[in-house]
Amino acid sequence: RRFCQLLPKIELHAHLNGCIRTSTFRQLLSSTADQLRLDALDKEFQSGDTHARMANVFEKFALLRSCVTNLDEIRRITRETLEDFIADHIMYVELRTRPRSFDNGAIPMSSYVEAILETMKQYKNQICSRLILSIDRTQTVDQAMETLKLAERYRPDVVGLDLSGDPNVKSFERFLPVFNLAKQMNLPTTIHIGELPDAECLRENDLILDFKPSRLGHFNFRTKEQEQRVIKEQIPLEICPTSNLLTMKHPLAICTDDSGLMDCRLSSEIFDLVQSFRITKEEICELMLQTCRTTAAIALKSHPQYARHITPIDPNR
Ligand code: IMP
Repeated sequence: RRFCQLLPKIELHAHLNGCIRTSTFRQLLSSTADQLRLDALDKEFQSGDTHARMANVFEKFALLRSCVTNLDEIRRITRETLEDFIADHIMYVELRTRPRSFDNGAIPMSSYVEAILETMKQYKNQICSRLILSIDRTQTVDQAMETLKLAERYRPDVVGLDLSGDPNVKSFERFLPVFNLAKQMNLPTTIHIGELPDAECLRENDLILDFKPSRLGHFNFRTKEQEQRVIKEQIPLEICPTSNLLTMKHPLAICTDDSGLMDCRLSSEIFDLVQSFRITKEEICELMLQTCRTTAAIALKSHPQYARHITPIDPNR
């Protein structure tokens, strides 16, 4: 754990407001009703499938968005995020955020961007930080174009354009002219891709890959061909293990590959996983049970005659 902590690191996929400290989030929630809603969302998150968990996370983002109402709060979130990253020995970070205005436009989006960049500069001796501007999937093309203009205006502090937001909204095609323009302007792009297990998502994956972004975020759900394409074209992937693990509930099996050649043990692989991704004992037990269930289900499909030998797993044992 100490080694991982002291290792100089680079963080390339961090949504600024998503980095807010829990204590700050709770402080900014003004009403008791909002506090109770957050408690309920935290509780509900423990159950549900990928779509339900994603919906839960996005309701939290909406709650967060409603309670961040001025530039001082954005400065505070930026400051605390950078301090947390410095403490974790991050040497270089690209924070990303969707620019917004406050007070019905009296404080324009450019002030939002400047507030973040100024705060970043205050920490420049401790951490090298850059900004990526995000287009939200629910925005209009005009709004996206405005974000692109802002990105161009604040280069080189702004280093790229991102597409993120609720993955249920499949809007990459709509924004293609904006991202094509970014490419012409030589502005790097990073696109959230393959976040949901549905056919529409897989179709959108193809469009995104045809565009050839500079980087991809997540890419949890994809076809074999899409996977091969990304490998062949060497498109860098931003992998967020905890985020993926928490929202995906994807069947996993932890393995060693070449335990002799690579000098590893299954127990040490699992130990590393627990340590690196801060998985609790309960979660790792659930992961192991899930692996058992998945393996048993696959085995039973090809050998149904063995069903009578199988007894249900008792999670308490
Ligand atoms: P902000 O852009 O600084 O406000 O950061 C929070 C926003 O990032 C959220 O409202 C989402 O739109 C976006 N975001 C955070 N995590 C994810 C994700 O896993 N998938 C897609 N969008 C995300």
